Formats: sequence, structure tokens, C-alpha cells
Amino acid sequence: MGIVEDKLALVVGVANDKSLAWAIAQKLAEQGAKVALTYQGEALERRVRPLAEQIGATVVGEMDVGNDESVANAFGKIAQMWGGLDLLVHAVAFAEREDLQGRFLSVKRANFLRALDISAYSLVSLARAAEPLMEKRGGGAILTLTYLGAVRAVPNYNVMGVAKAALEACVRYLAIDLGEKKIRVNALSAAPVRTLSAAAIRGFYDMAHEVERRSPLRRGLNREEVGTMAVALLSDLASAVTGQTVYADLGYSIVGL
Ligand code: NAP
Repeated sequence: MGIVEDKLALVVGVANDKSLAWAIAQKLAEQGAKVALTYQGEALERRVRPLAEQIGATVVGEMDVGNDESVANAFGKIAQMWGGLDLLVHAVAFAEREDLQGRFLSVKRANFLRALDISAYSLVSLARAAEPLMEKRGGGAILTLTYLGAVRAVPNYNVMGVAKAALEACVRYLAIDLGEKKIRVNALSAAPVRTLSAAAIRGFYDMAHEVERRSPLRRGLNREEVGTMAVALLSDLASAVTGQTVYADLGYSIVGL
């Protein structure tokens, strides 16, 4: 028996086999969950379908988290297919490349709002869509991915740090709203891992190298470790944990000097 045996899990944010969402989807399937994936755009469909096949996951279809109709369609398909939902993984973020370098104060209003919309508001919109489906199953768990740049000023992370701060606050407020329905909401704050999105951040390799050099465990984070920690938080083993930001960062965030 896996720790999420027979749980119905929707994972949003698989772009390719380097995505943290993919690491989580693999571990969910390994631990017995039935997994559904969404993708954004046709180009990604071609990459996501073969991955889904590897773990016996269902591809629900396209979901652009910035579009309410698209979110409603995808959750409608989940309702039709499963009639309920136990677990939701939100592993989505976006900021313009030009805003992931240089001075934070240069960010334009439209870019700022879009980063906050796709990276933080989308958790609220997905949680709202998941609520009735999780209620049908007597509760559930929602997990999003965040980074230290939410609480520390990390050079170049800039507007994404502001979006992650909003995201972590959303986690706390959603946990209050959804707690009485036995739905837990948490964030997993991961150390830098090489992915498509991460490559857009200027100086990303230096960030990752700093963790290897200065973290108590003196190494980098494997994407598999994001998967296992995510599944632990989504599983009933974490039944008393909600509204939290949990760090999987080799201890980097506790170091002073
Ligand atoms: P990734 O593989 O590029 O995943 C990001 C995903 O967000 C992609 O699937 C991307 O799709 C999707 N996305 C962007 N805009 C979207 C939209 N409007 N609708 C639906 N999906 C959209 O990179 P990742 O590093 O695994 O990122 C996953 C999460 O982990 C993000 O929240 C990220 O901030 C967080 N995180 C990453 C690290 C790290 O070091 N990698 C560390 C801590 C936290 P497209 O490719 O089509 O845009």
C-alpha cells in the first residue's frame, strides 16, 4: 500500500520531464494515486502525453490558469471523469524574462499584475474549483510550490519574490477557509532545481551553487526529493499540517553567515 493509495490527484504544471510537477506526479503514482495532468498549449501537449503514459496518468486537457473558462473546463472534465478530487498540486508560475534580472523597481505595472495573476491568484482560482470536488470526497489536500525569495530579497528573483510572498499568504487564508471542509493547504519551498522556468532567472546557477556551498547538508536538491516531500505533505501522514510553508532546501534558509 502506498501512502496516497487510490487518491485522485490533479497535477498542474508539467511542461517537460524536468518540471517539479513531473517529479511530484511520478511519486504520487508510485505511491498509489490515480493521477491526472493538464498542459498549457499544443506544444506542451506533445511533451506531456508521453510522460502521462509512463505513469498511467490521464491527460485531462489544456488548462491556462490565467483564463477562468479554461479552469472551469478542466475541472468540469475531472468532475465527469472522477466525480471528486482528493489532491491538487499547483506548480505554476510566470514572470517576463526581462523582470527576472536587474532592478526590481523597473517592473512595469502590466508585468507585475500578470506575474501575480499566474503565480499567486491562480492558486485561489484552482482551490475554488477544487473545493466542491474535494467536499464530495470528505476532504482533501492542496499543495503549491514556492521559493525563499518570498521572504528574503534574492537578487534577480524580483517580481517573482513578490508573487511568491502573495502565494504564501494565499496558502494561509485558503487554509482558514477550507479547514472546516477538511481540506489542507500548504506550500513547499524548494531550493533551486534546474527546470525550464528556473533557466529564465538570471544568475540561477549561482543561486543553486550557493546552496551547495552554504547549506548545512552541503549539496544541491534533487527533483526526486521535491517529489517525495510533496507526496508526504499531500498524504494523510501530514494530516495535522495546514497553512504552512515547509522548506525542502537542505537547510539553506536557516543559515545566518
Ligand atoms: P517548469 O517546469 O517550467 O514549470 C512551470 C509550469 O508553469 C510550466 O508547466 C508552465 O507552462 C506553467 N505555466 C506558466 N503559465 C501558465 C498558465 N498561464 N497556465 C498554466 N500553466 C502555466 O518549472 P518548475 O521549476 O518546475 O516550476 C514549478 C513551480 O515550482 C513554480 O511555481 C516555481 O516557481 C516553483 N519553484 C521552482 C524552483 C526551481 O528551482 N525550479 C524552486 C522553488 C519553487 P508553460 O511552459 O507553458 O509556460
